[in-house]
Amino acid sequence: MIEEIADSFFRVEIPLPKNPLRSLNSYVIKSQDRHLIIDTGFDLPECFDAMKEGLKRLDVRLEESDFFITHMHSDHAGLVTRLITDTSRVYFNKTDAAVLTNLNVQKELNSFIRMSGLTDDVVDAMIRIRSRFRYNINAWINKVIFVKAGDMLQAGDYTFRCIETPGHTMGHTCLYEPDRKILISGDHILYDITPNITCWTDSENRLKEYIASLDRVYDMDVDLVLPGHRSVFTDFKGRITELKRHHEKRASDVAFILEDGPQNVAQVAAKMKWEIKCESWESFPVAQKWFATGEAMAHLRYLEEEGTVAVKRSNGSLLFDLADR
Ligand SMILES: [Zn+2]
Repeated sequence: MIEEIADSFFRVEIPLPKNPLRSLNSYVIKSQDRHLIIDTGFDLPECFDAMKEGLKRLDVRLEESDFFITHMHSDHAGLVTRLITDTSRVYFNKTDAAVLTNLNVQKELNSFIRMSGLTDDVVDAMIRIRSRFRYNINAWINKVIFVKAGDMLQAGDYTFRCIETPGHTMGHTCLYEPDRKILISGDHILYDITPNITCWTDSENRLKEYIASLDRVYDMDVDLVLPGHRSVFTDFKGRITELKRHHEKRASDVAFILEDGPQNVAQVAAKMKWEIKCESWESFPVAQKWFATGEAMAHLRYLEEEGTVAVKRSNGSLLFDLADR
């Protein structure tokens, strides 16, 4: 599906097969000079076919196109591997690129995840699932032009400013067009669903970063938000307020759960409320258990740094408790 957003500015819907997100919004800006394609889809044939078809209908040739990638997740960056040509430039942030090219990161993450209380079969199954979506950044890292906060990007009649919004990933970067008051928000601000904020290390506080990034953009003059998934929308400030309220509520739910006594992350996740049609935590699909546990961790880390929650490491596990007990 193709939607015209503004003059020479289009949204191309890329299906994400067997994924609850359903589809990715790729934004294409046509220009006399070089076209710009913002976010791409998984490195999968279904995504490639939809992108090829969309670009054909828009009369956009890959040889004349550059790319901007909001963040490292494979539903946004994966397909670049198949789309780049000899002349392509890929605008991307340094923080996410460093994570993708550091082979130790995944190992460290996996050993931390084993302390969360998720059972080995869930962790092993999820590591296998994730490896299926791993894409080869080495195929395009030499074409990357690193962008940082304040950098300007020209595409046709549009001039975008890079806005760093760490949280969903630590390098997540949005694009803002001040004349048209358009924000390309990636997965920082979504309308129909809440962006997934997970934390898998105790050296980061993803939720705190995320909330700070929501505050950082709040005062911007935005008439139209173009997110990475689902609906384009206009109520920018209203949605930010809702997202902040959502996480405050989640954090207070987590603190309430700890009233029962010290628990590991998976035990906390099992007691949180999730919008999923499952009878019990045991019947959650592997991927949902994984994301739920990561999200519980993000809230626990947030509360820990706030001083509400204390953490104890013992025998390869992490136990959280209320700090004032
Ligand atoms: Zn996404």
